[in-house]
Amino acid sequence: MKLKTLLLLCSIAPSAWGWSNHTVGSYLALQNLPALRDAPLVEVEPLEQFLTQQYPAIVQLLDEQERFARQHFTQYPPRPDALKLPAEAGSNPRQAFLMALRINPQIHLAMVIQPLSGQDQPQRTHLKAEQVMVEQTLSPWNQQRFIALANGEKVAPLAVLASAADEPDYGHDINLFSDNQGEVAALYGFGPQPFGDERFQYSSQAPFHMGFFHENPVVYAAAGFLERSWPDWRAYQYLGLARLAFDTGHPYWGYRFLGWGLHHVQDLTQPYHAKPLPGVGLLSMLLMEGKALAGDDSDKREAIEQAATRHMEVEKYQAAWLSRLLRSAQPLHPMIQAYVDTAQDADYPAYSVDYLREVVSAQSADAGAAFDEAIGQWLASAPATSSFSAGNQLQREHYDHPPMNQQLFALLGHFGAHSRIYVGAGLAPSVVGNAAP
Ligand SMILES: [Zn+2]
Repeated sequence: MKLKTLLLLCSIAPSAWGWSNHTVGSYLALQNLPALRDAPLVEVEPLEQFLTQQYPAIVQLLDEQERFARQHFTQYPPRPDALKLPAEAGSNPRQAFLMALRINPQIHLAMVIQPLSGQDQPQRTHLKAEQVMVEQTLSPWNQQRFIALANGEKVAPLAVLASAADEPDYGHDINLFSDNQGEVAALYGFGPQPFGDERFQYSSQAPFHMGFFHENPVVYAAAGFLERSWPDWRAYQYLGLARLAFDTGHPYWGYRFLGWGLHHVQDLTQPYHAKPLPGVGLLSMLLMEGKALAGDDSDKREAIEQAATRHMEVEKYQAAWLSRLLRSAQPLHPMIQAYVDTAQDADYPAYSVDYLREVVSAQSADAGAAFDEAIGQWLASAPATSSFSAGNQLQREHYDHPPMNQQLFALLGHFGAHSRIYVGAGLAPSVVGNAAP
């Protein structure tokens, strides 16, 4: 139980991040993918239209997914039968669909795209953040611009997909656990929230956006709750929906579902989403806990604070730097190239349902200790901008920290490669040239 307390606090402030705005990284990583670049524009379509036109196929898919998930995913909490879609659509198919997927039925599902930095269209109608995100996920950090789309409007597949990649941070996984507030907490069958810092309103999404799949067995024995996380299941659900939508002539929803799943893959490329305390070895963790049991929890608190600070500071650093590079149009900069470069893509195994766990998060967890150390050295040389209002201090950052930057670029390279591999799996084989019937 004590170890649980230690780790409960790990996913601190920026657990909604995983390399900040997922849309920006997605545009960069996917812009040259031929299957996307050459795909025809898609027509914006309300969710209800997809649901009502393809209802029997959706019922069948979700039933198949539930059967598979029960056999396949570790510590998978079975979906209560009451949430199964009925054979005939009821009066609120959208609500039934979201509940059958066990996502937050209060999400706004706004019809919007985010422009890439410097490519906004100010003459168009924009939605405010509170029209796009649920209240718990609003924060001073949100800087997205949301261009409103009209039903039937034609839009570029890349814009739909990249915009959707940010969407799971707008409320999909908020308040789903039995000890959370809200109406679905008691219905969804996920049990109590295994981890996440309760001081933050969006912390309840953490077990769907982080996954500690590569801990020592001793850690799992002492803290079994660490195995209760399901980003890989989310990526699986949305991939199946994307393929169904593409196959049945609803490419707008195909790209949007694919973007949702992509988010979870991208989250796990961030080492702080793949390790609870990346810089702390097993022995140190146990010693720290022993000391806390004996009444002195100062080391433990310090380790938690340190990981949280490093996670937040490196994401702020990277986001501010990337934004500056995009504004000043430097396509050959190594950070931009890290997202774009496809040289490593062929070295990875083919996509499978276990790819997120066995490839993405394994790689990210492996990189965690060295990355954490490099961030620590950077912060020691340049004090952290720890206040939420201190963002303007970043203006003075010169980004001249080669040991950390090298690791950062390598990790962003993983982000790019895994993004393309996941999207490739969702698009193959049917989407290219797939016209609506
Ligand atoms: Zn996330």
